[in-house]
Amino acid sequence: MQSAGCRLCRIALEARGESTDGLADETHGHINSAGCEGMATFVTAAPHSMWRHLYDSMHAAQKPKSKLKFVTLDKESNMSTLWRREEFLRICSKQELAEKAQDIEVTIPVKKSQETWYNLDPGSFFVNRSWGRRPDRVAINETLKIIYILKFKRPTDTDDGFLEVKDAETNE
Ligand SMILES: [Zn+2]
Repeated sequence: MQSAGCRLCRIALEARGESTDGLADETHGHINSAGCEGMATFVTAAPHSMWRHLYDSMHAAQKPKSKLKFVTLDKESNMSTLWRREEFLRICSKQELAEKAQDIEVTIPVKKSQETWYNLDPGSFFVNRSWGRRPDRVAINETLKIIYILKFKRPTDTDDGFLEVKDAETNE
């Protein structure tokens, strides 16, 4: 049977006044992907909304004497800027963290978009990449000296589509 193309894509493209030539087939896989014009916003927003809910629940479950402290992060927070803060340095030094991070980072492939950066200085690439990672949710237990990084932002979170959703969230 010949598919007329994805109806969700058609609606989204028509709303934006864009061409509806070459619509993707309306398959289950397509509709469940961020590749579907009609679903992209939801596919991107769902995990964010889920995380926010989970995080809020953990927050709400806090007891007055709880040792777990949730850290307020700003948009620019990455591993490097966090490890300038007293509460982080008290738990583990930059040097200690860099050594551990190096062990883990070397097991994560160098992406195509990172190759130029890697070739510039392969020796420091992995540590530098780890300092650039942006935690999204962090909690600290100062008594047990444990830092919980619950979630890292994905690089795709800086995509325009995500920023729109993020702005919408902020304005809620
Ligand atoms: Zn579609």
